[in-house]
Amino acid sequence: PKRIFSGIQPSGGLTLGNYLGALKRFAVAQDEGIETVYCLVDLHAITVWQDPGKLRHATRELAAGFIASGVDPARSILFNQSQVPAHAELAWIFNCVARMGWLRRMTQFKDKAGKHAEEASVGLFAYPNLMAADIMAYHATHVPVGEDQKQHLELTRDIAIKFNHDYGVDFFPVVEPVIEGAATRVMSLRDGTKKMSKSDPSDQSRINLTDDADAIAQKFRKARTDSEPLPETVDGLDGRAEARNLVNIYAALADVTPAQVLAQFGGQGFGTFKPALADLAVAKLTPISAEMKRLMQDVAEIDRVLGVGAERAHAIAEPVLDQTREIVGLIRSR
Ligand code: ATP
Ligand code: MG
Repeated sequence: PKRIFSGIQPSGGLTLGNYLGALKRFAVAQDEGIETVYCLVDLHAITVWQDPGKLRHATRELAAGFIASGVDPARSILFNQSQVPAHAELAWIFNCVARMGWLRRMTQFKDKAGKHAEEASVGLFAYPNLMAADIMAYHATHVPVGEDQKQHLELTRDIAIKFNHDYGVDFFPVVEPVIEGAATRVMSLRDGTKKMSKSDPSDQSRINLTDDADAIAQKFRKARTDSEPLPETVDGLDGRAEARNLVNIYAALADVTPAQVLAQFGGQGFGTFKPALADLAVAKLTPISAEMKRLMQDVAEIDRVLGVGAERAHAIAEPVLDQTREIVGLIRSR
């Protein structure tokens, strides 16, 4: 049977990239009646230092973002990772399955550690093993993510294959990445070659789900572009990364194809397109940010929801971990 797992880090506030690449599709999968497990991956967030108070706030706000985007905690399992110990335990076993060479190839580590790889935490390096554990603790079969996570999912598959091979079992399923739609890689508004990220130091690089209408309009107005009018066809976006990004964002927000956006706006300049894009973004995001604000007024209720979700998650993950211990030869006598 199909089971979906995905996660988002409480490493800052949610961005338009997280919404289009992940959250929006999480609600769709849930509404299709598939079993869905969604995780606020706080143990991933601390691979770079987080202020404890801000981490707590970001975790609750992220939970509010999930719910405001249509994830219903009664129909999906919604919880924070650190409340379910199976993730960290299985990650240790996977640390012993994955090879150094596999992890050294991960481009996200290179991007995040930059020139200071020797100063990066061991956790940041081993992050993909924890992600593999997140997915496999639930025997998840499908993982909806943005394009940037593709390499980590390939590593997850490699870990499952090697574990099954090394222990002579057919235990962990080989997962399918689900990367589809016009905006699986929303780019920075300041640099069309970098992805939009919640941890980017520049607030101008991203639209936050909590930005108000003025901030959204101002950020799109200042978004970097060339000065040509929009092309009539998608081919005309080749070599125009910034223009392509804005067209993709519009398409994803409007639930149309980039070609349909260009059929409407081709030949027009950014002076016309950017305000239209800002209006659309405000119309789509304002109800979400208003609902997030409302939910954040009762953090005790958010914590309660996460606790219930964690219990349901634990009930699935713990038996998987028990079987894993048995396969590996770890004695459990209590
Ligand atoms: P950080 O900068 O801390 O890594 P992030 O913005 O990359 O934060 P993550 O928590 O790492 O967010 O990723 C959560 C989900 O959002 C993943 O499925 C990821 O693929 C997706 N995602 C992140 N950024 C983008 C983006 N720019 N476009 C589309 N999807 C994205
Ligand atoms: Mg990321």
